[in-house]
Amino acid sequence: MSTASPFLPYGKQCIDDEDVAAVAAALRGDYLTTGPTVGQFERAFADYVGARFAVASNSGTAALHLACMALGLGPGDHVVVPSVTFLATANAARFCGAEVIFADVDPHSGRMTAATLEEALARQPGFRPRAVLPVHLNGHCVDVAAIQALADRSGMAVIEDACHALGGLHAAGNDTRASVGACALSQLSCFSLHPVKTMTTGEGGVTTTNDEQLYRRMQLFRNHGMTRDAGEFTAAEQAFDTAGAALPWYYEMQELGPNYRITDIACALGLSQLRKLPSFVDRRRKLAAYYDRALADLAPRLTLIPRQPDDDPALHLYVVLVDFAAIGCSRSEAMAILKARGIGTQVHYLPVHRQPYYVRRYGTESLPGADAYYERALSIPLYPDMTEADAARVVTALHDLVS
Ligand SMILES: *Cc1c(COP(=O)(O)O)cnc(C)c1O
Repeated sequence: MSTASPFLPYGKQCIDDEDVAAVAAALRGDYLTTGPTVGQFERAFADYVGARFAVASNSGTAALHLACMALGLGPGDHVVVPSVTFLATANAARFCGAEVIFADVDPHSGRMTAATLEEALARQPGFRPRAVLPVHLNGHCVDVAAIQALADRSGMAVIEDACHALGGLHAAGNDTRASVGACALSQLSCFSLHPVKTMTTGEGGVTTTNDEQLYRRMQLFRNHGMTRDAGEFTAAEQAFDTAGAALPWYYEMQELGPNYRITDIACALGLSQLRKLPSFVDRRRKLAAYYDRALADLAPRLTLIPRQPDDDPALHLYVVLVDFAAIGCSRSEAMAILKARGIGTQVHYLPVHRQPYYVRRYGTESLPGADAYYERALSIPLYPDMTEADAARVVTALHDLVS
Protein backbone atom coordinates (compact mmCIF):
# COMPACT_ATOMS: atom_id res chain seq x y z
CA MET A 1 0.00 0.00 0.00
CA SER A 2 1.45 3.39 -0.92
CA THR A 3 1.32 6.17 1.62
CA ALA A 4 -0.83 9.11 0.55
CA SER A 5 1.13 12.09 -0.72
CA PRO A 6 0.80 15.17 1.50
CA PHE A 7 -1.62 17.92 0.46
CA LEU A 8 0.18 20.81 -1.21
CA PRO A 9 -1.46 24.19 -0.48
CA TYR A 10 -0.90 27.02 -2.98
CA GLY A 11 1.35 28.71 -0.42
CA LYS A 12 2.44 28.43 3.17
CA GLN A 13 4.91 29.67 5.76
CA CYS A 14 8.29 28.09 6.51
CA ILE A 15 8.96 28.01 10.27
CA ASP A 16 11.88 26.22 11.93
CA ASP A 17 13.22 25.69 15.47
CA GLU A 18 15.24 28.94 15.30
CA ASP A 19 12.02 30.86 14.73
CA VAL A 20 10.34 29.10 17.64
CA ALA A 21 13.32 29.87 19.90
CA ALA A 22 13.32 33.53 18.84
CA VAL A 23 9.63 33.89 19.71
CA ALA A 24 10.08 32.07 23.04
CA ALA A 25 12.96 34.40 23.96
CA ALA A 26 10.84 37.44 23.09
CA LEU A 27 8.04 36.16 25.33
CA ARG A 28 10.48 35.92 28.24
CA GLY A 29 11.76 39.46 27.62
CA ASP A 30 10.70 42.70 29.30
CA TYR A 31 8.76 44.10 26.35
CA LEU A 32 6.02 42.31 24.49
CA THR A 33 5.26 45.45 22.48
CA THR A 34 6.83 48.88 21.83
CA GLY A 35 10.22 47.52 22.90
CA PRO A 36 13.63 47.55 21.19
CA THR A 37 12.99 44.56 18.91
CA VAL A 38 10.61 46.62 16.77
CA GLY A 39 13.34 49.13 15.88
CA GLN A 40 15.88 46.34 15.34
CA PHE A 41 13.56 44.61 12.91
CA GLU A 42 12.82 47.87 11.07
CA ARG A 43 16.56 48.61 10.72
CA ALA A 44 17.31 45.08 9.47
CA PHE A 45 14.39 45.16 7.00
CA ALA A 46 15.37 48.60 5.66
CA ASP A 47 18.97 47.41 5.20
CA TYR A 48 17.83 44.24 3.43
CA VAL A 49 15.76 46.09 0.83
CA GLY A 50 18.13 49.06 0.65
CA ALA A 51 15.79 51.82 1.85
CA ARG A 52 16.69 54.54 4.38
CA PHE A 53 13.62 53.95 6.57
CA ALA A 54 11.15 51.18 7.41
CA VAL A 55 8.03 51.39 9.57
CA ALA A 56 6.68 48.05 10.78
CA SER A 57 2.97 47.70 11.46
CA ASN A 58 0.51 44.93 12.23
CA SER A 59 -0.59 44.09 8.65
CA GLY A 60 0.09 44.78 5.01
CA THR A 61 -3.21 46.63 4.98
CA ALA A 62 -1.91 48.89 7.77
CA ALA A 63 1.33 49.37 5.80
CA LEU A 64 -0.68 50.62 2.80
CA HIS A 65 -2.96 52.80 4.93
CA LEU A 66 0.05 54.37 6.70
CA ALA A 67 1.55 55.18 3.28
CA CYS A 68 -1.69 56.89 2.21
CA MET A 69 -1.92 58.81 5.49
CA ALA A 70 1.73 59.89 5.23
CA LEU A 71 0.95 61.47 1.85
CA GLY A 72 -1.98 63.29 3.45
CA LEU A 73 -4.63 61.71 1.22
CA GLY A 74 -8.15 62.71 2.20
CA PRO A 75 -11.68 63.37 0.98
CA GLY A 76 -11.69 64.99 -2.45
CA ASP A 77 -8.45 63.24 -3.46
CA HIS A 78 -8.21 60.46 -6.05
CA VAL A 79 -5.75 57.60 -6.44
CA VAL A 80 -5.28 55.06 -9.25
CA VAL A 81 -5.24 51.34 -8.37
CA PRO A 82 -5.08 48.35 -10.76
CA SER A 83 -8.24 46.28 -10.53
CA VAL A 84 -6.40 42.96 -10.27
CA THR A 85 -5.10 43.05 -6.72
CA PHE A 86 -6.10 42.20 -3.18
CA LEU A 87 -8.86 44.42 -1.74
CA ALA A 88 -6.49 46.25 0.63
CA THR A 89 -4.70 48.21 -2.13
CA ALA A 90 -7.90 50.09 -2.94
CA ASN A 91 -9.30 50.09 0.59
CA ALA A 92 -6.21 51.85 1.98
CA ALA A 93 -7.14 54.96 0.00
CA ARG A 94 -10.81 54.66 0.99
CA PHE A 95 -9.86 54.55 4.71
CA CYS A 96 -8.47 58.08 4.15
CA GLY A 97 -11.67 59.17 2.42
CA ALA A 98 -9.97 59.32 -1.00
CA GLU A 99 -11.70 57.92 -4.09
CA VAL A 100 -10.31 55.10 -6.24
CA ILE A 101 -9.96 55.13 -10.03
CA PHE A 102 -9.50 51.52 -11.18
CA ALA A 103 -6.97 50.98 -13.94
CA ASP A 104 -7.17 48.04 -16.29
CA VAL A 105 -4.30 45.57 -16.54
CA ASP A 106 -2.43 43.69 -19.24
CA PRO A 107 -4.52 40.52 -19.83
CA HIS A 108 -1.42 38.30 -20.12
CA SER A 109 0.33 39.40 -16.91
CA GLY A 110 -2.40 40.98 -14.78
CA ARG A 111 -0.13 43.98 -14.27
CA MET A 112 -0.79 47.69 -14.63
CA THR A 113 1.23 49.20 -17.47
CA ALA A 114 1.99 52.80 -18.39
CA ALA A 115 -0.65 52.39 -21.13
CA THR A 116 -3.40 51.15 -18.79
CA LEU A 117 -2.50 53.89 -16.29
CA GLU A 118 -2.71 56.51 -19.06
CA GLU A 119 -6.06 55.09 -20.15
CA ALA A 120 -7.39 55.31 -16.57
CA LEU A 121 -6.30 58.96 -16.33
CA ALA A 122 -7.92 59.74 -19.69
CA ARG A 123 -11.18 58.08 -18.58
CA GLN A 124 -11.52 60.61 -15.73
CA PRO A 125 -10.20 63.83 -17.32
CA GLY A 126 -11.68 66.06 -14.60
CA PHE A 127 -9.65 64.45 -11.82
CA ARG A 128 -6.02 65.06 -10.91
CA PRO A 129 -5.13 61.92 -8.91
CA ARG A 130 -2.57 62.48 -6.19
CA ALA A 131 -1.12 58.98 -6.16
CA VAL A 132 -0.89 55.70 -8.05
CA LEU A 133 -0.52 52.32 -6.33
CA PRO A 134 1.04 49.89 -8.83
CA VAL A 135 0.97 46.23 -7.70
CA HIS A 136 3.83 43.81 -8.35
CA LEU A 137 1.33 41.03 -9.02
CA ASN A 138 2.56 37.52 -8.16
CA GLY A 139 6.01 39.04 -7.51
CA HIS A 140 6.62 40.13 -11.11
CA CYS A 141 7.29 43.86 -10.97
CA VAL A 142 5.42 46.37 -13.04
CA ASP A 143 7.53 48.54 -15.36
CA VAL A 144 8.39 50.85 -12.48
CA ALA A 145 10.40 53.32 -14.59
CA ALA A 146 7.61 53.83 -17.12
CA ILE A 147 4.96 54.22 -14.43
CA GLN A 148 7.13 56.60 -12.41
CA ALA A 149 7.79 58.75 -15.49
CA LEU A 150 4.05 59.03 -16.19
CA ALA A 151 3.30 59.66 -12.51
CA ASP A 152 5.89 62.44 -12.47
CA ARG A 153 4.36 64.11 -15.52
CA SER A 154 0.89 63.86 -13.95
CA GLY A 155 1.94 65.06 -10.49
CA MET A 156 1.21 61.73 -8.77
CA ALA A 157 3.18 60.08 -5.98
CA VAL A 158 3.97 56.37 -6.43
CA ILE A 159 3.15 53.90 -3.62
CA GLU A 160 4.32 50.42 -4.62
CA ASP A 161 2.17 47.56 -3.35
CA ALA A 162 5.10 45.16 -3.06
CA CYS A 163 3.26 42.62 -0.90
CA HIS A 164 4.01 39.88 -3.46
CA ALA A 165 7.53 40.91 -4.39
CA LEU A 166 9.82 40.91 -1.32
CA GLY A 167 13.35 39.86 -2.26
CA GLY A 168 13.07 40.67 -5.97
CA LEU A 169 14.98 43.07 -8.20
CA HIS A 170 13.48 45.29 -10.88
CA ALA A 171 15.01 47.18 -13.79
CA ALA A 172 15.61 50.80 -12.80
CA GLY A 173 16.83 52.34 -16.06
CA ASN A 174 20.35 52.84 -17.50
CA ASP A 175 21.12 49.11 -17.23
CA THR A 176 20.71 49.19 -13.45
CA ARG A 177 18.54 47.10 -11.17
CA ALA A 178 16.99 48.13 -7.87
CA SER A 179 15.85 46.00 -5.00
CA VAL A 180 12.07 45.92 -4.45
CA GLY A 181 11.40 48.19 -1.48
CA ALA A 182 14.45 50.42 -2.02
CA CYS A 183 12.02 53.04 -3.37
CA ALA A 184 14.51 53.84 -6.14
CA LEU A 185 11.64 55.20 -8.30
CA SER A 186 8.82 55.67 -5.80
CA GLN A 187 7.95 57.49 -2.59
CA LEU A 188 6.85 54.43 -0.61
CA SER A 189 6.76 50.61 -0.82
CA CYS A 190 4.44 48.38 1.18
CA PHE A 191 4.90 44.76 2.27
CA SER A 192 2.72 42.16 4.01
CA LEU A 193 4.16 39.62 6.45
CA HIS A 194 1.07 37.37 6.47
CA PRO A 195 2.00 33.64 6.65
CA VAL A 196 1.32 33.02 2.98
CA LYS A 197 3.73 35.78 1.88
CA THR A 198 7.48 35.39 1.28
CA MET A 199 8.37 35.76 4.99
CA THR A 200 6.10 36.12 8.00
CA THR A 201 5.56 37.63 11.43
CA GLY A 202 2.14 35.95 11.84
CA GLU A 203 0.35 39.14 10.92
CA GLY A 204 2.45 42.15 10.00
CA GLY A 205 3.45 44.74 7.46
CA VAL A 206 6.27 47.11 6.58
CA THR A 207 6.33 50.41 4.70
CA THR A 208 9.68 51.62 3.37
CA THR A 209 10.70 55.09 2.19
CA ASN A 210 13.76 57.29 1.71
CA ASP A 211 11.86 60.42 2.78
CA GLU A 212 12.43 61.30 6.43
CA GLN A 213 9.27 63.38 6.69
CA LEU A 214 7.06 60.56 5.40
CA TYR A 215 8.84 58.22 7.81
CA ARG A 216 8.11 60.48 10.79
CA ARG A 217 4.47 60.88 9.81
CA MET A 218 4.03 57.11 9.58
CA GLN A 219 5.54 56.67 13.06
CA LEU A 220 3.08 59.23 14.38
CA PHE A 221 0.04 57.73 12.61
CA ARG A 222 0.91 54.18 13.67
CA ASN A 223 0.45 55.12 17.33
CA HIS A 224 -2.80 57.15 17.57
CA GLY A 225 -1.20 60.23 15.99
CA MET A 226 0.49 60.93 19.31
CA THR A 227 4.04 61.87 20.26
CA ARG A 228 6.04 61.86 23.51
CA ASP A 229 8.92 63.80 21.92
CA ALA A 230 9.15 67.15 23.76
CA GLY A 231 10.87 68.71 20.75
CA GLU A 232 7.65 68.22 18.76
CA PHE A 233 5.11 69.47 21.29
CA THR A 234 2.95 72.26 19.92
CA ALA A 235 0.68 73.07 22.91
CA ALA A 236 3.40 74.68 25.06
CA GLU A 237 1.00 76.04 27.71
CA GLN A 238 -0.01 72.52 28.78
CA ALA A 239 3.16 70.63 27.82
CA PHE A 240 5.77 72.46 29.91
CA ASP A 241 6.08 73.64 33.53
CA THR A 242 7.06 77.21 34.50
CA ALA A 243 10.73 76.25 34.37
CA GLY A 244 10.25 75.11 30.76
CA ALA A 245 10.57 71.36 31.44
CA ALA A 246 8.17 68.98 29.70
CA LEU A 247 5.66 67.46 32.13
CA PRO A 248 6.73 63.85 32.78
CA TRP A 249 3.31 62.34 31.94
CA TYR A 250 2.55 64.49 28.95
CA TYR A 251 1.92 63.24 25.41
CA GLU A 252 0.31 65.03 22.54
CA MET A 253 -2.11 63.86 19.85
CA GLN A 254 -1.39 65.86 16.70
CA GLU A 255 -3.26 63.82 14.10
CA LEU A 256 -6.03 61.21 14.11
CA GLY A 257 -4.29 57.85 13.97
CA PRO A 258 -5.19 54.19 14.53
CA ASN A 259 -3.24 51.67 16.62
CA TYR A 260 -1.20 49.82 14.00
CA ARG A 261 1.65 48.86 16.36
CA ILE A 262 3.36 45.51 15.82
CA THR A 263 4.52 43.44 18.82
CA ASP A 264 8.10 42.64 19.82
CA ILE A 265 7.05 39.00 19.64
CA ALA A 266 6.19 39.39 15.95
CA CYS A 267 9.37 41.37 15.28
CA ALA A 268 11.51 38.68 16.95
CA LEU A 269 9.99 36.22 14.47
CA GLY A 270 10.57 38.79 11.72
CA LEU A 271 14.30 39.12 12.54
CA SER A 272 14.65 35.33 12.53
CA GLN A 273 12.76 34.99 9.23
CA LEU A 274 14.72 37.84 7.64
CA ARG A 275 17.96 35.88 8.18
CA LYS A 276 16.46 33.09 6.06
CA LEU A 277 14.89 35.33 3.44
CA PRO A 278 17.77 34.88 0.94
CA SER A 279 17.32 31.11 1.10
CA PHE A 280 13.51 31.42 0.79
CA VAL A 281 13.96 33.61 -2.29
CA ASP A 282 16.53 31.26 -3.78
CA ARG A 283 14.23 28.26 -3.31
CA ARG A 284 11.25 30.12 -4.81
CA ARG A 285 13.37 31.07 -7.84
CA LYS A 286 14.48 27.45 -8.35
CA LEU A 287 10.94 26.08 -8.11
CA ALA A 288 9.61 28.78 -10.44
CA ALA A 289 12.37 28.05 -12.97
CA TYR A 290 11.43 24.37 -12.86
CA TYR A 291 7.74 25.18 -13.47
CA ASP A 292 8.76 27.53 -16.31
CA ARG A 293 10.59 24.69 -18.06
CA ALA A 294 8.18 21.88 -17.27
CA LEU A 295 4.96 23.71 -18.19
CA ALA A 296 6.13 25.59 -21.30
CA ASP A 297 4.93 22.86 -23.71
CA LEU A 298 1.30 23.13 -22.51
CA ALA A 299 0.73 26.36 -24.47
CA PRO A 300 -1.64 27.58 -25.79
CA ARG A 301 -4.09 25.78 -23.45
CA LEU A 302 -1.99 26.68 -20.44
CA THR A 303 0.31 29.69 -20.63
CA LEU A 304 2.78 31.26 -18.21
CA ILE A 305 3.05 34.81 -16.91
CA PRO A 306 5.60 36.89 -18.86
CA ARG A 307 8.18 38.58 -16.68
CA GLN A 308 9.20 42.21 -16.98
CA PRO A 309 12.39 42.38 -19.10
CA ASP A 310 15.63 42.67 -17.07
CA ASP A 311 13.89 41.94 -13.74
CA ASP A 312 14.99 39.21 -11.36
CA PRO A 313 11.74 38.63 -9.49
CA ALA A 314 11.13 36.64 -6.31
CA LEU A 315 7.69 35.17 -6.87
CA HIS A 316 5.09 34.97 -4.10
CA LEU A 317 2.56 33.17 -6.31
CA TYR A 318 3.02 30.95 -9.34
CA VAL A 319 0.07 31.62 -11.61
CA VAL A 320 -0.78 29.73 -14.80
CA LEU A 321 -3.37 30.99 -17.28
CA VAL A 322 -5.68 28.21 -18.44
CA ASP A 323 -8.08 28.30 -21.36
CA PHE A 324 -10.80 26.37 -19.49
CA ALA A 325 -13.15 26.30 -22.51
CA ALA A 326 -10.41 24.67 -24.60
CA ILE A 327 -9.69 21.96 -22.02
CA GLY A 328 -13.42 21.26 -21.67
CA CYS A 329 -13.57 21.70 -17.93
CA SER A 330 -14.62 24.63 -15.77
CA ARG A 331 -12.20 26.21 -13.31
CA SER A 332 -14.20 24.91 -10.35
CA GLU A 333 -14.07 21.37 -11.80
CA ALA A 334 -10.35 21.71 -12.47
CA MET A 335 -9.74 22.85 -8.91
CA ALA A 336 -11.71 19.87 -7.58
CA ILE A 337 -9.77 17.42 -9.80
CA LEU A 338 -6.46 18.86 -8.60
CA LYS A 339 -7.61 18.88 -4.99
CA ALA A 340 -8.49 15.19 -5.24
CA ARG A 341 -4.86 14.63 -6.27
CA GLY A 342 -3.63 16.55 -3.21
CA ILE A 343 -2.91 19.81 -5.00
CA GLY A 344 -4.27 23.07 -3.67
CA THR A 345 -4.99 25.96 -6.02
CA GLN A 346 -6.53 29.40 -5.65
CA VAL A 347 -7.66 32.32 -7.81
CA HIS A 348 -5.94 35.70 -7.38
CA TYR A 349 -8.11 37.82 -7.77
CA LEU A 350 -11.69 38.69 -8.63
CA PRO A 351 -11.10 42.21 -10.07
CA VAL A 352 -11.73 44.65 -7.23
CA HIS A 353 -13.89 46.97 -9.38
CA ARG A 354 -16.46 44.10 -9.48
CA GLN A 355 -16.79 43.88 -5.69
CA PRO A 356 -20.29 44.95 -4.58
CA TYR A 357 -18.95 47.76 -2.38
CA TYR A 358 -17.14 49.35 -5.33
CA VAL A 359 -19.99 48.72 -7.80
CA ARG A 360 -22.28 50.57 -5.37
CA ARG A 361 -19.82 53.43 -5.12
CA TYR A 362 -18.66 53.82 -8.73
CA GLY A 363 -21.17 51.87 -10.82
CA THR A 364 -20.43 49.03 -13.24
CA GLU A 365 -17.18 49.59 -15.10
CA SER A 366 -15.72 47.70 -18.04
CA LEU A 367 -12.08 46.66 -17.64
CA PRO A 368 -11.63 43.90 -20.24
CA GLY A 369 -7.96 43.19 -19.49
CA ALA A 370 -8.76 42.54 -15.82
CA ASP A 371 -11.70 40.29 -16.75
CA ALA A 372 -9.65 38.31 -19.28
CA TYR A 373 -6.84 37.74 -16.76
CA TYR A 374 -9.27 36.74 -14.03
CA GLU A 375 -11.08 34.23 -16.29
CA ARG A 376 -7.91 32.16 -16.79
CA ALA A 377 -5.83 32.67 -13.63
CA LEU A 378 -4.99 29.73 -11.38
CA SER A 379 -2.35 29.84 -8.60
CA ILE A 380 -0.52 26.53 -8.12
CA PRO A 381 1.60 25.51 -5.11
CA LEU A 382 4.79 27.52 -4.48
CA TYR A 383 6.58 27.72 -1.14
CA PRO A 384 10.12 27.05 0.09
CA ASP A 385 9.41 23.72 1.80
CA MET A 386 8.18 22.13 -1.45
CA THR A 387 10.42 19.35 -2.72
CA GLU A 388 11.29 18.64 -6.34
CA ALA A 389 9.00 15.61 -6.12
CA ASP A 390 6.13 17.84 -4.93
CA ALA A 391 6.65 20.20 -7.87
CA ALA A 392 6.88 17.27 -10.28
CA ARG A 393 3.55 15.99 -8.96
CA VAL A 394 1.97 19.36 -9.73
CA VAL A 395 3.44 19.33 -13.24
CA THR A 396 2.14 15.81 -13.93
CA ALA A 397 -1.33 16.68 -12.69
CA LEU A 398 -1.43 19.80 -14.89
CA HIS A 399 -0.29 17.80 -17.95
CA ASP A 400 -3.09 15.28 -17.29
CA LEU A 401 -5.62 18.06 -16.81
CA VAL A 402 -4.72 20.04 -19.91
CA SER A 403 -3.95 17.35 -22.49
C1 LIG B 1 -1.54 40.30 1.29
C2 LIG B 1 -1.76 41.53 0.50
C3 LIG B 1 -2.16 42.76 1.08
C4 LIG B 1 -2.62 42.88 2.50
O1 LIG B 1 -1.79 42.35 3.44
P1 LIG B 1 -2.37 41.86 4.86
O2 LIG B 1 -1.09 41.60 5.62
O3 LIG B 1 -3.15 40.62 4.61
O4 LIG B 1 -3.17 42.96 5.44
C5 LIG B 1 -2.23 43.87 0.26
N1 LIG B 1 -1.95 43.82 -1.05
C6 LIG B 1 -1.59 42.65 -1.64
C7 LIG B 1 -1.30 42.66 -3.11
C8 LIG B 1 -1.51 41.49 -0.89
O5 LIG B 1 -1.19 40.33 -1.50
